[in-house]
Amino acid sequence: MRAITVLPETPNSIRLDDVPEPPSTDGAVLVQALTLGVCGTDREIIAGEFGEAPDGHDRLILGHESLGRVIAAPDESDLAPGDHVVGIVRHPDPLPCPACASGQWDMCRNGQYTEHGIKGLNGFGAERWRTPPEFAVKVDRSLGILGVLLEPASVVAKAWDHVDRVWRLEAAPPRRALITGAGPIGLLAALMGMQRRHEVHVFDRNDEGPKPALTRALGATYHSGAIEDLASLMPDVVIECTGAPTVIGAVLSRVAPDGVICLAGVGGSHRADFNMGLFNRNMVLNNGTVFGTVNANLRHYQLAAASLARADRAWLERLITRRVPLARFSEAFEHRKDDIKVVIEFA
Ligand code: BGC
Repeated sequence: MRAITVLPETPNSIRLDDVPEPPSTDGAVLVQALTLGVCGTDREIIAGEFGEAPDGHDRLILGHESLGRVIAAPDESDLAPGDHVVGIVRHPDPLPCPACASGQWDMCRNGQYTEHGIKGLNGFGAERWRTPPEFAVKVDRSLGILGVLLEPASVVAKAWDHVDRVWRLEAAPPRRALITGAGPIGLLAALMGMQRRHEVHVFDRNDEGPKPALTRALGATYHSGAIEDLASLMPDVVIECTGAPTVIGAVLSRVAPDGVICLAGVGGSHRADFNMGLFNRNMVLNNGTVFGTVNANLRHYQLAAASLARADRAWLERLITRRVPLARFSEAFEHRKDDIKVVIEFA
């Protein structure tokens, strides 16, 4: 079968390979790939900055944002042939640590977790893949291709879930939220902020293309230009999705009383000027919180599915800006103007 593979830590080794069928040891559910979403993590792996092949293999099958159709599943599972499923990206470490042992593999404590298409497990960028039934999340078939948004939405659902837990004022929920970055993660974060009835602001350096209209269609406010211009906004919640040091520096420099800042984007590791003393004063004197978040567990996939089910389908469809057939897979990883979510079509 065909699969998109890379040689980890080797820049630009990506190719369309002929690989063996997935072994039954990968899991009892056999899935026909329908669609694969592409994200920044894939680009980092292609650039050789990240990624790890499964034990005993040189190459890694890429892809962690999946959507597939069940070909075969065990009778005792709640899956049947024809069901649409998304594979859970992370699997618990073998020990397992207390987090993984309790199903919170997204919070793994020893770093020995594995991730499909990223770390030690083949990805979903193959014509067929397998997973254990408990790592296949059923998605509403009527969502069609939009089911591929479940994995990025799960990451955002976790970010919001943790914001809700960290917020310490029971009687006064947060009101104003700022999302920095209007890529798929940022726009899904804005969607979930609106679903929480917050006043949502989205900042992105782009003032052209589809992002401003997509933001406004949600009922949120779009800002572009210099992040410093938002200094007076004083949001209760910030979900930072750019990973850009200058943006991070700006959001950390202004903290509203009781404010929660969630760092959800991975970017470059270059230095940016930052006043640590002032940051400390602002955090202490405002009861501020900053936390990071990565990945998602089953509960977050379920929260994400509920959020996608409540969202306007026409709006979700506008997030998928490019569909590339498998034979031309490499085009999917090119950055093009106006891209939001690019997907590869397998079937
Ligand atoms: C994926 C997460 C994963 C993270 C780090 C992200 O792109 O969506 O599931 O945990 O990369 O590997």
